[in-house]
Amino acid sequence: MTRGSCLCGAVRFEYSRAVTQVGMCHCSQCRKVSGVASNATIVVPEAELSWLAGEELRQVFRKPSGWSTTFCRTCGSPLPQTLPGAAAYWVPAGLLDDDPGLRIGGHIFVGSKASWDEIAGEAPQFEAGIPRKGKA
Ligand SMILES: [Zn+2]
Ligand SMILES: [Zn+2]
Repeated sequence: MTRGSCLCGAVRFEYSRAVTQVGMCHCSQCRKVSGVASNATIVVPEAELSWLAGEELRQVFRKPSGWSTTFCRTCGSPLPQTLPGAAAYWVPAGLLDDDPGLRIGGHIFVGSKASWDEIAGEAPQFEAGIPRKGKA
């Protein structure tokens, strides 16, 4: 099991398996949520994540566009939230207290990154979202 928690420690969770490497999103919304150049997230199947404490502290903020973020009502840390249309959670990688054994798998929305954002490493970079597999 890999465990994670928010900054104040009131919200705790664990999961058994992630189905992605760490994805770095450089879009303007993720910049505001994280306060830094990009948001680091992994995807975990809904059935494989358990809330250990503080589930009731989860607060959702939704933009008129439907884009949303879930955060701890006490400390403001972003929290795992369900992915629209998928039985999975989007989990902020910075919350993890154990080594998840993952690497950065790719960078998305590089086309709208901040002017001061310098992307290091060999992971693939995509102008917008991840292209769908099987399409040219
Ligand atoms: Zn908290
Ligand atoms: Zn984003």
